[in-house]
Amino acid sequence: MRMRHKPWAAEYLQEHSEYVVQQPEDYKGKWSTLSKGKPIYIEVGTGKGQFVTEMALKYPDVYFIGIEKFESVLVTAVQRAVDAEPDNLLFIHGDVGELDAMFASEEVQRVYNNFTDPWPKKRHEKRRLTYQSFLALYDHVLTPNGEIHVKTDNQGYFEYSLASLSHYGFILKNISLDLHASHHDTENVRTEYEEKFAEKGQPIYRVEAMKQLPPND
Ligand code: SAM
Repeated sequence: MRMRHKPWAAEYLQEHSEYVVQQPEDYKGKWSTLSKGKPIYIEVGTGKGQFVTEMALKYPDVYFIGIEKFESVLVTAVQRAVDAEPDNLLFIHGDVGELDAMFASEEVQRVYNNFTDPWPKKRHEKRRLTYQSFLALYDHVLTPNGEIHVKTDNQGYFEYSLASLSHYGFILKNISLDLHASHHDTENVRTEYEEKFAEKGQPIYRVEAMKQLPPND
């Protein structure tokens, strides 16, 4: 993520408490008071917020929360929300590694992980957002019917993620090796990174991972 230092970012995030949760730990176990009973879908590493804002506008019956660790990046997401005015979207400035401080168990219905950094060097494996410790965090906050949806342009990271999700015990479905050429693209909302890779003609990989099989399967 290319990032310019924005000295005004912290103040901007504080001023926009209608979109930025200032103390997310205060809502742990109580997010339904904000979502008003709507299912909660989070995006980890939300970046500049294009995906999560479009999703919020497209699915008004879902409550979306984007989590991003760099405030200079998050301000662009918040500016986008201020312009688009969805009433079912919030942002958290924080590290996904602290997800269990933000959400109680079984509070989240879906986790989106879009184009997060592949960290190709083996010694950086623990930083990948599909590493086992991150999957354990998602597993903890997800409801029993919860799902993780992963999109990436990086074949190596995709293969790693499939193996990591499967090893953890998630059940994989709807795997696409070229999302934009597949029927799964009809419902697809593109992220900023996805648009850049698509312009270069690169295939997009995608998988949905279920915590458990639906009752009638
Ligand atoms: N999801 C966006 C997209 O597809 O356009 C942004 C992709 S960008 C490559 C990955 C983003 O994830 C960056 O903004 C980075 O700061 C964020 N990120 C990476 N690790 C994170 C973590 N542990 N906690 C929060 N955000 C993280």
